[in-house]
Amino acid sequence: MEHTEYDARARWSQPLRVAGRRVTKQRLAILECATSHPHSTADELHRHARLALPGIALGTVHTVVNDLAESGLLRRLDVPHTGARYETRITDHHHAVCTQCGLVEDVALPHTQPACLDPTIVRGMKITVAEVLYHGLCASCAGSLD
Ligand SMILES: [Zn+2]
Ligand SMILES: [Zn+2]
Repeated sequence: MEHTEYDARARWSQPLRVAGRRVTKQRLAILECATSHPHSTADELHRHARLALPGIALGTVHTVVNDLAESGLLRRLDVPHTGARYETRITDHHHAVCTQCGLVEDVALPHTQPACLDPTIVRGMKITVAEVLYHGLCASCAGSLD
């Protein structure tokens, strides 16, 4: 479902202002695209954003995603070989990536914290994020190997 610009404004104006950012068409478009197409690369966000803002340049998309990631409105996910991906679901969750087609899925946090994710084992560093990336085959790639 596509959201209108009015919806985007209603949804993102407050978070942008709290983050000290001006509300711009570019930021609204990127935030909407990253919400409806989570785990997109900057290239993919550019493709989607051009539907709403035909003139938006890829360089602008890169500038905007870097700024939004810095301000905490976008989460950047570094997936090997496919480049950084972005999403607006910034709360804790892990990811699984298909090594065949690059599909990325969200993985809920386990109910109990495994010992390897216990931040107290890291000395002299304040841990802010623990990221786990599972590698495997998605259902459709696993099926195509049969
Ligand atoms: Zn796959
Ligand atoms: Zn995610």
